[in-house]
Amino acid sequence: MTKETEAVCPICKNIIELDEEFDACDIDIGLVFYCPECDTELEIVRMDPMVVERTEDAGDEGADWDDEYDDENEDLY
Ligand SMILES: [Zn+2]
Repeated sequence: MTKETEAVCPICKNIIELDEEFDACDIDIGLVFYCPECDTELEIVRMDPMVVERTEDAGDEGADWDDEYDDENEDLY
């Protein structure tokens, strides 16, 4: 089966094992975490396949992600 708990950092391409830090039920769109390699704040913006983006990029130009960024779920964790 495809592992759905691995995120790839868009900055340094590091693979982050989210299931080592979060419960599986918490791994969803809006989850904010830090890349252990480059310390960039990342947010899950899409699942299946998982896509993560730098939170600072919100509203920059990624019109495709506007729906997700409307959710301010930073208190989730
Ligand atoms: Zn990184």
